[in-house]
Amino acid sequence: MKFTNVRLVGFKSFVEPTDFEIREGLTGIVGPNGCGKSNLLEALRWVMGATSAKALRGDGMEAVIFAGTSMRPSRNWAEVILSLDNSDRSAPAEYNEHDTLEISRRIIRKEEGTQSVYRINQKEVRAKDVQLLFADASSGANSPALVRQGQISELISAKPQNRRRLLEEAAGVTGLHSRRHEAELRLRAAEQNLERLDDVIGELE
Ligand code: ATP
Repeated sequence: MKFTNVRLVGFKSFVEPTDFEIREGLTGIVGPNGCGKSNLLEALRWVMGATSAKALRGDGMEAVIFAGTSMRPSRNWAEVILSLDNSDRSAPAEYNEHDTLEISRRIIRKEEGTQSVYRINQKEVRAKDVQLLFADASSGANSPALVRQGQISELISAKPQNRRRLLEEAAGVTGLHSRRHEAELRLRAAEQNLERLDDVIGELE
């Protein structure tokens, strides 16, 4: 599963639709201070399902929407679209029929807050589906492959549990934890249904 393109629309300083083509080999991004290098990395983390404002250096989820300048008004939505090459079929099995995958996340500013909409190949999905897709490939929003400014010193002083989480993400087992949690919740709901059924049967007898 290789990243081939990332498109930013109204995301942070990228107000105009901007495409970054990611080719084979090493990609370097250079530019003066404040030109948006970190914003691009944040866009990658964001489209992969990052939900913590802290991970995104913002004051809240809204901070990813272009906030306007003296020359341009602010926007009410932002979108990042990540294109992946899946010709080696390394994405989870349910995406096996696709040679390419397009993952998008759009955030819309509303009166009551913000709303995020995730899509995989144009089909609306849950945040969890996108997070699992990348967690299984060990390249999720919390992946050690993406190193934020200040993250190394945070790691050095981190609690052992937090350091362990990073190792688990690198080992690709985070998705399994998340699936186990979902399965446990479903099991508990099924057990409660069974108990209720027993009660109903008891009343009928
Ligand atoms: P450095 O080399 O100093 O780390 P950088 O190239 O990584 O810089 P970024 O931190 O990615 O730059 O970009 C910072 C710029 O993005 C600032 O000019 C900031 O005003 C702008 N910016 C951040 N969030 C928004 C937003 N929501 N709307 C508009 N502009 C934004």
